[in-house]
Amino acid sequence: IRNIGILAHVDAGKTTITEHFLYLAGVISKPGNVNHGTTVTDSLEIERERGVSIKAVSTPIEWKDSIINLIDTPGHVDFSSEVERSLRVLDGAILVVSAVEAVQAHTYTLWDALQEMKVPTLIFINKLDRHGADFENVLSEFANELHAKVFPLDQPVEEGSNNANINPLWGKNNNEALTSLQELAIENLAELDEEVLERYLEGDSLTDDFIFEKLKSYTSKNKAFPVLCGVAKNGIGMETLLDVVVGYLPAAKASGGELSALVYKIESHPKHGRLAHVRLFGGGLRNRDLVKNFSQKTEAKVARVMKHIAGKIKDIDVLRCGDTGILTGMQNVVAGDILGQPNDIPGPSALQIPFLTTRVKPVSDDQYIALAEALAQLDLEDPNLDFKWYKSEKELHLKLMGKIQMEVLQSMIKSRFDVDVVFEKPIVIYKETPGGIADGHASYTMPKPCWAVLRFKIEPGERGSGIQYKSEVSVDRIHQKYQNEIEQAIPKALQQGIKGWEVTDIKITLIDGEDHVVHSRPGDFIIAVPMALMDALTNSGTSLLEPMMHFEIKAGEEHFGNISGDLHAMRAEFANPEFDIARFTLHGTVPASTSMDYSIRLNSLTGGKGKLRLSFAGYKPCPDEQGQTRPYRGVNPMDRSRWILHARGAFKADERKM
Ligand code: GDP
Ligand code: MG
Repeated sequence: IRNIGILAHVDAGKTTITEHFLYLAGVISKPGNVNHGTTVTDSLEIERERGVSIKAVSTPIEWKDSIINLIDTPGHVDFSSEVERSLRVLDGAILVVSAVEAVQAHTYTLWDALQEMKVPTLIFINKLDRHGADFENVLSEFANELHAKVFPLDQPVEEGSNNANINPLWGKNNNEALTSLQELAIENLAELDEEVLERYLEGDSLTDDFIFEKLKSYTSKNKAFPVLCGVAKNGIGMETLLDVVVGYLPAAKASGGELSALVYKIESHPKHGRLAHVRLFGGGLRNRDLVKNFSQKTEAKVARVMKHIAGKIKDIDVLRCGDTGILTGMQNVVAGDILGQPNDIPGPSALQIPFLTTRVKPVSDDQYIALAEALAQLDLEDPNLDFKWYKSEKELHLKLMGKIQMEVLQSMIKSRFDVDVVFEKPIVIYKETPGGIADGHASYTMPKPCWAVLRFKIEPGERGSGIQYKSEVSVDRIHQKYQNEIEQAIPKALQQGIKGWEVTDIKITLIDGEDHVVHSRPGDFIIAVPMALMDALTNSGTSLLEPMMHFEIKAGEEHFGNISGDLHAMRAEFANPEFDIARFTLHGTVPASTSMDYSIRLNSLTGGKGKLRLSFAGYKPCPDEQGQTRPYRGVNPMDRSRWILHARGAFKADERKM
């Protein structure tokens, strides 16, 4: 079994390739066409309408005694949380680029993620038939811009014409001198391997078998990258590509033992309810198995074990180790959950974290509840949306990775839930951190019955340290069960500080307080903690932190003046440029808020020749006047009597539910 992802910039040809794979493996009788809306992989309505794949659909095919599960990953950078989760379940990837457009901004993002997760990767250069196709240019972009040790396996014939085709680069006359492409391939391999280097330098014969064994081993370690090409539209290069997938990408490890599975996607199905897409890294699964949800510390029973087969879901009863499948009947499972034990599962990468926030509104007010329910459902499928429902303000908020995601959500909410929505212009998500050391106090002793008295000291923490808490108050003064309540209440209380943003990089110490044997009740300290923390933050004041991006810009040297002017205006920090044959490269960091739309400006400035690569670089202090504050949403704990009334009401409601 091999779980393989096909990744690409939108329009490079992922869906077309998938269709040809299904066709060659005999799953469908003829390949569908994205332009006619007949593909099985783009099954969502919006995907068909726009010809873009959004939902990853896993489809198994059989090729030369191997089972290949194809995970058709989403194309746009804005859907990266799903891309990222699907990368974690891959044994290998096919990175598709167009022979004309070559390495694009999104290719960088995907490449970085594949490297970070060490996914063995094949490169497929598609659209050899198009005018301007240039195989060797793509190879050199991979080598120069992505520092990839590429190893071409075939070469194009009649590039840039309707007759474009491919020829194998290896395996014919071993005695002839190496072609320049073969030389490039062997030199790249020699840089990785001493033995290849020695034989190459000494002019010893390098047999194809020897080279391919080496290539295979470096490919599986994510060090070397076999390159193929073709015309997916005409089915050219598809069989070779499948052969190379089976020949060079490693198979999933089939270890028995305890269950270890990752839920990489959640879908809802009209008949089967919640579908949990899983990859098994250890153990096996059967219908009606009771499984431990490691992430949620719960147990749940699997109703049925199923699998996506060419666009339909079918019962398979048993899922083997290494395989991907679908579980039904697990009510509370969310995307990213680990089932069984986590040992064998690769950790998450930080491909992208959402740094934008927006408010969603129904076009007609009476659909407000329907919209809130729809957003709650979408939040299960993508917990990165971090859906917040501020009931007193009647506001619905989501976190986003980019603006395109808004458009996609908008049509998805319409087609799946029949609600018309509008989004407010998104803004970046700021954070707050204490401006200095301060105390904060709460004495919640009225109206009786209640008793919770506490005093915190807060201090700024190191950048990236989050929340650190310790108690210096003995359990004689505050009972252990109330100390636990305090610790649990802190993260929630810090979701909004005095400027309306989440508070982070803060050290909190409980320095004083008391409970009361008669009057204290469970929940009293939960009510008091936000009062004391808001008091402390008011005393310390807070500084804003803003999301920053690493950037790399490459452009012709004639644009250097304009670009560095733009960068200064965007509050960027950068090192000296590197110049190389009439082009320059610049590295630095820039606030997310000022660089969001810069790729558009760079494109028009450089006539499409400039390249911008952005990746998240963490949070940094930001002057108040450059940032934004928001009003407190919900009941503010500083508004003491309203807060107490509200918080007590919430507890009563919870009790009624129980
Ligand atoms: P995806 O967005 O990566 O899934 O790409 P699609 O498979 O949807 O293809 C995008 C467009 O490129 C469609 O119009 C395809 O018909 C077209 N296309 C795919 N492969 C080729 C090819 O080899 N040559 C040419 N000229 N067009 C292609
Ligand atoms: Mg597609």
